[in-house]
Amino acid sequence: MSLILNIQKLNAFYGARTSADTAGAAQALFGINLQLQAGQAAVLQGANGAGKSTCLKAIMGLVVRRAAVLQVGGVDTTSLPVEAIADLGVGYVPEDRRIFTRLTVLENLRVAAPSKKPGKARSENQVWNEASVLDALPHLKTLLQRSGDAISGGEQRMVAVARALMRDPRLLLLDEPCEGVAPKVADAIESALHLALSQGAAVLLSESHDGFAQRLGAAVLPLHAGALV
Ligand code: ATP
Repeated sequence: MSLILNIQKLNAFYGARTSADTAGAAQALFGINLQLQAGQAAVLQGANGAGKSTCLKAIMGLVVRRAAVLQVGGVDTTSLPVEAIADLGVGYVPEDRRIFTRLTVLENLRVAAPSKKPGKARSENQVWNEASVLDALPHLKTLLQRSGDAISGGEQRMVAVARALMRDPRLLLLDEPCEGVAPKVADAIESALHLALSQGAAVLLSESHDGFAQRLGAAVLPLHAGALV
């Protein structure tokens, strides 16, 4: 088994300038411990404000954080910027989806693919590419030429998940991926996540629906006031 995500004693702060200077900041996470192996899923559950989104943001490097251990694929990410964390193979789907509304669906997918840097070949073990992402979320095939603002909110959510998959992630972070979407969209996202897991990615998501965690075979991690209970 390979350890994809290793978190020990993770604290996160809002309003802090740096992780070394958190005086006066609001602490939102308190000593989170979490490990995910390849092919494992976990679901953060908790009330509004419990810290689910913050936990995903802290892993992605989007909030000031401090940890005894914070590693993706064995690499220490505590002082890496978000782009470098993404380059380690972390795909993040924020709660607000954030797709490019003026680009077509196809363009949204293509700009998400990691650029091929000279001398840096894509991994031979690459699992996801445009074709396999579209096979996993086939409804998107009917929307490729539509602009991002001409599709429904649920479809935008599918595009956001597809964009994360285009990065060929070894770790997927999804903030309430099925919140407020039609059951058909939720099913499509669920199958895509199943496929990602079966191909060795680790998945961490925040989700309010119990059934989803169960069907994914995910460990349920209850969060309360910024700590795992
Ligand atoms: P929700 O489902 O409502 O998004 P959540 O479990 O994801 O809830 P977080 O958004 O992670 O919760 O919030 C955790 C704590 O951090 C809350 O006390 C919240 O008020 C605080 N917080 C979140 N974002 C900010 C911010 N930008 N500035 C200051 N405090 C914040």
